[in-house]
Amino acid sequence: MQQLVLATRNAHKVTELRAILAAAGVTAELTGADAFPEVPDVKETGTTFAENALLKAHALATATGLPAIADDSGLCVDVMGGAPGIFSARWAGRHGDDPANLNLLLAQLSEIDDPHRGAYFACAAAFALPDGTERVVEGRLPGTLRREPAGPNGFGYDPILQPEGETRTCAELSPDEKNAISHRGRAFRELAPLVLPLL
Ligand code: IMP
Repeated sequence: MQQLVLATRNAHKVTELRAILAAAGVTAELTGADAFPEVPDVKETGTTFAENALLKAHALATATGLPAIADDSGLCVDVMGGAPGIFSARWAGRHGDDPANLNLLLAQLSEIDDPHRGAYFACAAAFALPDGTERVVEGRLPGTLRREPAGPNGFGYDPILQPEGETRTCAELSPDEKNAISHRGRAFRELAPLVLPLL
């Protein structure tokens, strides 16, 4: 069976993407980067989600000799000109400190009235072959930012993003409900048919 490597060590992401890609007809065996401990993590030196996703996909494809998939995502706030953007995971300084990131953002937006609290989650999904062939697409989940976190599910900024047309935050949606509309779901569902003929 064709193998496809995914540039993440997060088992939850591997499971989520396996389901999305299988539903889109990609039957290749999906392996997380954890199966290749000798492959070093890539520095995200790009200035866009797409650049960072491509950097990770190319590095993994080159190192493993296998087709590779990677993503890069974040929250983009309208009144902040798209920030935190590619800095979403380390907005408050320490990489991956979700509560600190969320609290800092809420404080920065405390003076901003409800009609101006538009934001979206963005995800770039990238595919690369060892020969340098590449594909990249972006998916978005638009919404507005609450003043207080709500909901037990998800991670990151989920408790404050209320998707367009919803009364609940992303953290109040079930995982299936979120996958159906999420930036990541949209990006990978769009990427799947581009990848199929290249495998
Ligand atoms: P990365 O794509 O794993 O680098 O994620 C970047 C950061 O963006 C995460 O640490 C979160 O802060 C934020 N983020 C990306 N996707 C989501 C999401 O679906 N919900 C909430 N936060 C997200």
